[in-house]
Amino acid sequence: MIFYKSRREIDLMLHAGQVLARLFDRMEEKIIPGVTTGKLDESIHRWMLEEGCIPSFLGYRGFPAVSCISVNEEVVHGIPGPKKLVEGDLVTVDLGVIWQGYHADAARSFGVGTLSREATDLMKATEEALDRGLEAVSLGGRVSDVGAAVQSYAEGLGYSVVKDYVGHGIGRDLHEEPQVPNYVDRGRRRRDHLLKKGLVIAVEPMLNMGTDEVELLDDGWTVVTKDGKLSCHFEDTVAITDEGPVILTRPLETGRKR
Ligand code: MG
Repeated sequence: MIFYKSRREIDLMLHAGQVLARLFDRMEEKIIPGVTTGKLDESIHRWMLEEGCIPSFLGYRGFPAVSCISVNEEVVHGIPGPKKLVEGDLVTVDLGVIWQGYHADAARSFGVGTLSREATDLMKATEEALDRGLEAVSLGGRVSDVGAAVQSYAEGLGYSVVKDYVGHGIGRDLHEEPQVPNYVDRGRRRRDHLLKKGLVIAVEPMLNMGTDEVELLDDGWTVVTKDGKLSCHFEDTVAITDEGPVILTRPLETGRKR
């Protein structure tokens, strides 16, 4: 069942989203060689509490941290811990917070020091793929518009799009219906829902350098590329309102200006 949100509910989610935008801003200078992903997670946890928010991920199906930090060949759901970041790492930080019962969800990727050319290109392409996906969100459009935009852009550059993990509706729950694939679901296994007023979705392309196939590590969470090549992930939460889509997880001026 899809839950369409009222103006009030979207305002609460906007607050949560603006918290995430601020957290990413603060984080940038912390992502340096030598820092452990566990230390980053600690800082993020403190900032979330300072903002008066509840972390969405901590305890979610038993997840042990407030952030997912996925490095290089890790696609999503990396568990923060003793791993030290080194120069040239491509790091994705995925965060969610709850404000007065409502979630927002977003991910950003960062380079540690100077990235290789190929990592830089992948990161730029994934960020652009997210923008293309968000631009495809329109009142009266379809969920599949997002996947079509992301997939055609990414594959046009020679990257593959992860199929096993998808974007999602969001609200009182972190993951709600509908699923938002980053590809065109030709088998039509999922209903292609209308993008109606009050729908709030997380758009989150995951692009791989090589194969789109992924594997789950023994920790039960970390998803890695099957061929060990680089992966990258960006995510924003977007609400469909009467005035059109509003990106809740970017600084407001930017979010409204699309
Ligand atoms: Mg998400």
